[in-house]
Amino acid sequence: MVFTTDVLVVGAGPTGLTTAIELARRGVRVAILDKVPERPYAESRAEGVHAKTLEIFERQGLLAPVLAHGRVLAGFAFRTGRRRLGELSAAGLDTPHAYSVLLPQSEIERIQIDRLRSLGIDVQRPVEVLDVRQDDEGVRAHLRMGDGTASTIISQYLVAADGGHSSVRKALGADFAGEKLQGAYVMDADAEFAVEPAADRGTFILSRGGFVVIGRRPDGTHRIALSLPARDRRISRDRPTREELQRLLDGFPKVGITLRAISWSSAFFISSRAVDRLRHGRVFLAGDAAHIHSPVGGQGMNTGIQDAVNLAWKLALVVQGSGTEALLESYDSERLPVIQRLIASTSASTKPLLWQHPVATAVRNAVLQVLLPLPAVQARLFDSFTGFTVRYRRGAFIPAARRTARRHGPAPGEIAPEASRGGRRWYPLWGSDTRHQLLIFCDQDGVPESVSTWVNRRADLIRPLVVSARQTQETRTQSATPLSRCAAATPRHRAR
Ligand SMILES: Cc1cc2nc3c(=O)[nH]c(=O)nc-3n(C[C@H](O)[C@H](O)[C@H](O)COP(=O)(O)OP(=O)(O)OC[C@H]3O[C@@H](n4cnc5c(N)ncnc54)[C@H](O)[C@@H]3O)c2cc1C
Repeated sequence: MVFTTDVLVVGAGPTGLTTAIELARRGVRVAILDKVPERPYAESRAEGVHAKTLEIFERQGLLAPVLAHGRVLAGFAFRTGRRRLGELSAAGLDTPHAYSVLLPQSEIERIQIDRLRSLGIDVQRPVEVLDVRQDDEGVRAHLRMGDGTASTIISQYLVAADGGHSSVRKALGADFAGEKLQGAYVMDADAEFAVEPAADRGTFILSRGGFVVIGRRPDGTHRIALSLPARDRRISRDRPTREELQRLLDGFPKVGITLRAISWSSAFFISSRAVDRLRHGRVFLAGDAAHIHSPVGGQGMNTGIQDAVNLAWKLALVVQGSGTEALLESYDSERLPVIQRLIASTSASTKPLLWQHPVATAVRNAVLQVLLPLPAVQARLFDSFTGFTVRYRRGAFIPAARRTARRHGPAPGEIAPEASRGGRRWYPLWGSDTRHQLLIFCDQDGVPESVSTWVNRRADLIRPLVVSARQTQETRTQSATPLSRCAAATPRHRAR
């Protein structure tokens, strides 16, 4: 059989689900499929949702269930055995969500699937994409359906969110260059600790040759991840037992963790790999299909979700006839540098955590103890791993002249700053409206007639908000009434 759709999303992990939600919110005809019959898995995988992703969840209507089921983390504590090295606090982040949320990936996917269903879309499963072919007209994905029969789906565009082993990436012949760093193990456990980890913080224990990361899960058990000093193939790759994991933990001096029981475990290699191009004609790679890296900083799932958000609104505009090729090109020019920086920074921050030499580890720990309390270091580290240092100033559709223009507020391509006035915040004002939001800061003379005429002509794409000293109000774009007079007001702003 042959089916058609506007956008086909391959893979219903966090990246694919975000893509489908963003497209469906904009009224695009989208199909999403996954080869696995049952997903969410009964395993946690990623656990940390960072502030930038929480802002995205807020706009998508996912924040309330994520907060209801998750555990809020105010930051991260670093120690070696019993010695405290310092803390990273999320409090300085310039966002209403200055925290991370610990919630198993399986729960996040469940919440995303519910949201997608509320938009009228169900994940098709088990349906496996075996091959993709494209021409000027569209993309043909060859499928194996659950009953073993073959099928084809033709779409204008295809988003490959099919994970680290992406079949679509392989079908495209795209390179996935990089390196394998280290063996690592992860488990959900009922455990005893020589030093009880703080419930409201993630804990990093640095040991000689490796590290252990602990987070308290919403059900009171702990997520524990550990790396190994050397590539270790002694234990089963799939599901290490409690005894095997205990032996590994005992190998770290002074870590002091006793496992009473484990409910889930997995062994994997920390690898750092990325494609050198995200767009291949009508096919776009996103999430783990495009990049995998060290879990230090918990950025894998978060970055995939942020790729999806960057791509989906552009695809929607192009499919609906309002966007151009430059918009699609900008997915690469905006996201690829972010991915390359992520690969470099996660590799660079993982390697010192694996140092074995006692002098090197002592120096590293002393440096951390000095640097961690510094506000500038706190801000820099938290901003970078939560996605707040991301800027798209060099995106393909930002004219070169605008990149260097003198300015007082955020430049084109920068994150719109959250701000509040009189107890009202901007972000909830844009809420579920998927149009571009135009803030008009007007002075005593009010909004010029030429501006309101221009805005009214683009009401399907742009939602104007007039900012005055007293209030922020949506303009009446449908009526020809001149916009009301208002006084100037500038939102609290920090470039980020
Ligand atoms: C053990 C483990 C622990 C992790 N811990 C963390 C962590 O603490 N923090 C963090 O940020 N990240 C962590 N990660 C990484 C995180 O899970 C990934 O970054 C995240 O899942 C990426 O989401 P994705 O949607 O891009 O890909 P995936 O979640 O891998 O989803 C891809 C989907 O595509 C489907 N698929 C694959 N091929 C096909 C095909 N041919 N046809 C149809 N469907 C297909 C798969 O069934 C799957 O459902 C961990 C990963 C593992 C394995």
